[in-house]
Amino acid sequence: MTEQLKTITPAKGWRPDSWQQKPAGQQARYEDEGELKTVLARLASMPPLVTSWEILNLKQQIAEAQAGKRFFLQGGDCAEVFDECESSIVANRLKVLLQMSLILLHGLEMPVLRVGRFAGQYAKPRSSDTETIDGVTLPSYRGDLVNSPEFTEAARRPDPARLIQGHARSAMTMNFVRGLVDGGFADLHHPEYWDLGWVEHSPLAAEFHRISESIGQSVRFMETITGQQPGSLKRVDFYTSHEALHLPYEQALTRQVPRQYGWFNLSTHFPWIGMRTAELDGAHVEMFRGIRNPIGIKVGPGMSADWLKGLIRTLNPDHEAGRLVLIHRMGAGKVSDHLPGLINAVKATGSPVLWICDPMHGNTEKTSNGYKTRRFENIRAEVEQAFEIHAAEGSRLGGVHLELTGENVTECVGGARELNESDLATCYKTTVDPRLNYEQALEMAMLVVRKHRS
Ligand code: PEP
Ligand code: MN
Repeated sequence: MTEQLKTITPAKGWRPDSWQQKPAGQQARYEDEGELKTVLARLASMPPLVTSWEILNLKQQIAEAQAGKRFFLQGGDCAEVFDECESSIVANRLKVLLQMSLILLHGLEMPVLRVGRFAGQYAKPRSSDTETIDGVTLPSYRGDLVNSPEFTEAARRPDPARLIQGHARSAMTMNFVRGLVDGGFADLHHPEYWDLGWVEHSPLAAEFHRISESIGQSVRFMETITGQQPGSLKRVDFYTSHEALHLPYEQALTRQVPRQYGWFNLSTHFPWIGMRTAELDGAHVEMFRGIRNPIGIKVGPGMSADWLKGLIRTLNPDHEAGRLVLIHRMGAGKVSDHLPGLINAVKATGSPVLWICDPMHGNTEKTSNGYKTRRFENIRAEVEQAFEIHAAEGSRLGGVHLELTGENVTECVGGARELNESDLATCYKTTVDPRLNYEQALEMAMLVVRKHRS
């Protein structure tokens, strides 16, 4: 145990199962408790998905981001689905995140911390426990970790076996991402490896190629002047994150490790608490209180200053650097009303935090033809206002949290190609929330750079 860690107070009265004494929202209701128990015991004996060293490295890097030395990029699907645990989908999502991080690193002139919403983003909160179609009522789809989206009784029945399947798919995704990153796929000398098939047809292609060429040159230049071996700047770090919603699953992967103080959630590097489960005396906050991972908290327009201060007191009593990332998601029309007060309330706590903006979840709407969508101009407006508000309050917007995919889907309207509502039907694939497609995601990275510089 290092000196610094000795100063961290163990969370009083906490155990990996102490959350069970508190009200837990958004949980699956399984018919067969015995079957669930057997599955959880099996899961608790299986290898974890990440290590405590990686988690502590990420915490260190978040502390650097809190000090203004890194920019935080978090992105991926709203909901991963088991059937899309495919090599091309995983690789494309990695490519778009790598490309965005290059644009940010080049434009912001600082290292970028890359955190995927993947390898475990399988459980979803829903606004209602049930869904009714044509007079038939069934349990809502709660993510592939719980049930399946088809509207049949069998598909919607929560199935404990899915917990093992989700763990296995997370491990496969993780294994592939690690292999790609270690094997040279993320080599900064060759950003052209990350091109997606359709990049050359994109209106943004020229700007992206200019940036990637300039980075290739800078990397070679750095190696020359520092005398480093060619290739030594090859490795990039990638971390995983998901909403730690399904508490029995998270508990089964919360472990102690040899030679490290405390408990770690080893299902992901960076779990976050969603908007709907952030009650101060609720089970999720109890679960997060005792783990040593860095954690995210979604902050929506309904969160009061006192509530947020209470969360900070409970979740970071020692004011540990690198522990807290606050992900505000207000909506373009609300951010200027709600954010300034919260920024000042957080400052008064004295706890270091990293503020990042999720411009997706406050800007969801339904089109007249029945699609759940988000308008690129609203997403953009929320990010731009967030930069301005933080600067005006003497704070700093240190990152973005985006729902995106490396596929060429049509789920959000607008962007350089000006997708409109009638284009949505062309390739609308998401099971829950609409994602930025590949081009819209790159465009967003370019806009962040422009705004940051202005
Ligand atoms: C999400 O990130 O997919 C989500 C449900 O977010 P929020 O909790 O902010 O609504
Ligand atoms: Mn979502």
